[in-house]
Amino acid sequence: MIIPFVDRPRVGYFSMEIALAPEIPTYSGGLGVLAGDTLRSAADLRLPIVGVTLVHRKGYFRQEIDAEGRQVEHPAPWDPARYAEPLEAKIVVRIAERNVWIGGWLYVVHSHLGGQVPVILLDTDVPENSQGDREITHYLYGGDQTYRLKQEIVLGVGGLRMLLALGLQVRNYHMNEGHSALLAMELMRRFHLFDRRRADEPSYNLPGVRALCSFTTHTPIEAGHDRFDWALARELLGGYMDVDDLKKVAGQEQLNMTRLALNLSEYVNGVARRHAETSQRMFPGYRVRAVTNGVHPRTWTAPSFAALYDRHLPGWCNEPMLLVRIDQVPDDEIWGAHLAAKAALIERVKAGCGVVLNPELPIVALARRMTAYKRPDLLFSSIERLRAIARRHPFQIVLAGKAHPRDMAGKQMIENLHRHLRALVGAVPAAFVPNYDMRVALDLVTGSDIWLNTPQRPLEASGTSGMKASLNGIPQFSVLDGWWIEGCIEGITGWAVGGDVESENHRDAESLYDKLDEVVLPLWHGERTKWIAVMKGAIGKNASYFNSHRMLRHYAMEAYLR
Ligand SMILES: *Cc1c(COP(=O)(O)O)cnc(C)c1O
Repeated sequence: MIIPFVDRPRVGYFSMEIALAPEIPTYSGGLGVLAGDTLRSAADLRLPIVGVTLVHRKGYFRQEIDAEGRQVEHPAPWDPARYAEPLEAKIVVRIAERNVWIGGWLYVVHSHLGGQVPVILLDTDVPENSQGDREITHYLYGGDQTYRLKQEIVLGVGGLRMLLALGLQVRNYHMNEGHSALLAMELMRRFHLFDRRRADEPSYNLPGVRALCSFTTHTPIEAGHDRFDWALARELLGGYMDVDDLKKVAGQEQLNMTRLALNLSEYVNGVARRHAETSQRMFPGYRVRAVTNGVHPRTWTAPSFAALYDRHLPGWCNEPMLLVRIDQVPDDEIWGAHLAAKAALIERVKAGCGVVLNPELPIVALARRMTAYKRPDLLFSSIERLRAIARRHPFQIVLAGKAHPRDMAGKQMIENLHRHLRALVGAVPAAFVPNYDMRVALDLVTGSDIWLNTPQRPLEASGTSGMKASLNGIPQFSVLDGWWIEGCIEGITGWAVGGDVESENHRDAESLYDKLDEVVLPLWHGERTKWIAVMKGAIGKNASYFNSHRMLRHYAMEAYLR
């Protein structure tokens, strides 16, 4: 079968999760949204790229909050046939000495400008496979280490073979995080066979593999990197290549996906400048560059702001740098666009959790993956303090976030947050919007007034939700970590929580309260033009730069066209 998109060589963009559309639950959070935004920008810019991921038929999960404020998880199945075309090609990979068949789907990302980007959704739920193997591509981040390694074989090895079977030529393989690093092993194997015909001594053409591969690392936490015991790897990967040879590039103690990707990629980068520095220290001997993340302009801009930009800065969605000219837009039009987006958020909060917010008061929003290092509870370190601040400068709070089903500390946080919100009743109107996904995220990053982020330094690799907020003129108030080190100009684009040193909860909480009380809320309640000046700072100085068009051009220049 001839599929479209075989016209020219493409970049193969491999990611365990890709947020293709709000209604397709094939993503859990920032990594997937970034992958989706990358492909959306590629479609706008007509950059030849092909996405590869798993179909995740059972999705991540849908979050419900029960009466006690606890997270309840529901399956989030979706039907790929409604959104994608079935591929006729099927390929085979060996897993634990068995044949596992992989079929797939062609999903097309359409740009409003006419560009298209193909995405291959790999699917083992085909009649040739046993029941167990049919489930390999069902659950995003579900199951144990064995399940995860099987998924990574399908993504890396299967993905590469599927591209070849479809006749899609790949000029560069981009591993978005280490989950797909087995593609580099597969390339190594292929180069090996090729070389063997010429020499008796088998050797691997590592430079040849490296020249084809790029790797983006996303976490500065050692434990966040994927590893597998060699016993398991030997069992599942038997027959691919000599395990001692693989150990040389993937780690002696464990099969370490980050090591494998680092050793076999010529271009390696972190997702913000500080994160690249942290990664460089973690991995001495490799050169780690920085490509600061960005978000897709059109996806993350409220309709009211998009209309405003269309009027005053036509072409902004494909040339977001034009947003530097935001100063020529009259204040009242910016405020009008903001009020429209805020009304939509207030409507959604009312529908979603019955809380009625006041459009006349500022909304402080915080939406995060609920996990310890993100510290979503820092704001509630002192309920007394929050009440006192609200008496002087009334404000409201909106929260959202999912905890991974096995992250018990994260789930406990959700329960605690609900307790805090109950303690604030009568003093601070507040809501927790369930099921944080792209739709909820869009409401929050367009309709709030102040975007709060309080992670533990230096663990936030980049963070992207504050970039989304800045597209809508919402200043960020955040710990100086990840992208905010590059984006924060105090009082001009937003504000910093604490200083630029290792975090300490108590000190950060004090800084948060002091600034909220003395700077941020008084400014909001004071002269409107001064607040709007900060909104313009967020748009003109940050949204113009921290977008996925700039990011993708950076990858194209440095990684893909090297
Ligand atoms: C943007 C986004 C994220 C990532 O936001 P961070 O600031 O990196 O935490 C996570 N989940 C959803 C649904 C998003 O839209």
